[in-house]
Amino acid sequence: MKNPIIPNLEIPVHTIFCIGRNYANHAKEMGHDTPDEPIVFLKPLSSVCLTNSTINIPIQSLDIHHEVEMVLAIGKSGKNIPKETALEHLAGFGIGIDFTARDIQKKAKDNGEPWSIAKGFDNFAPIGNFIPFNSNSFPECNFNLSINGEIKQQGITSKMIFDVPTLISFLSNIFTLEEGDLIFSGTPEGVSAVKAGDILHADLENGKSTLNVTIA
Ligand code: MN
Repeated sequence: MKNPIIPNLEIPVHTIFCIGRNYANHAKEMGHDTPDEPIVFLKPLSSVCLTNSTINIPIQSLDIHHEVEMVLAIGKSGKNIPKETALEHLAGFGIGIDFTARDIQKKAKDNGEPWSIAKGFDNFAPIGNFIPFNSNSFPECNFNLSINGEIKQQGITSKMIFDVPTLISFLSNIFTLEEGDLIFSGTPEGVSAVKAGDILHADLENGKSTLNVTIA
């Protein structure tokens, strides 16, 4: 399989980084305190898909949740990137969904095990079109997710506990960031279960980035 191409940026996806508990009200609904530093996990390349994809509920889970998130795309590689120059490494941003098998994740958490299975099924990381970025300040973005026309999650990026420059800098102190890396920046409150037949629509900035997926 060839790496999927990030829509509008025409860059192949490289590594998929995800940030957990980056919105206080979501951390709270999951029964956690706000973290002192970013919580990081990864998804496999096989979890990435584009708009109009179908997400099959895996037989291993009875509780698949949507987590709508703003997704960052890295355009320039770097290591130990200071916050002050972090935005120079950003190629664009768009909307995505971090699908999570909540029952598998809970079991993993209870047993002190990794989240890879809960987060990593095929098509568990759909992304919409990306908005190219070329600025020295990151704009505040509204985003939301609806199921069958009913709004379930609404977020605003100014409520992120760790902002965009902080996330890029933090990750780059550990991992060499490469062109095509995606960073799922965390979900606001309102996560809930999906069922077969649901049609999900995710939107960032009133249609500037959109994503439609069907659950089967
Ligand atoms: Mn998430």
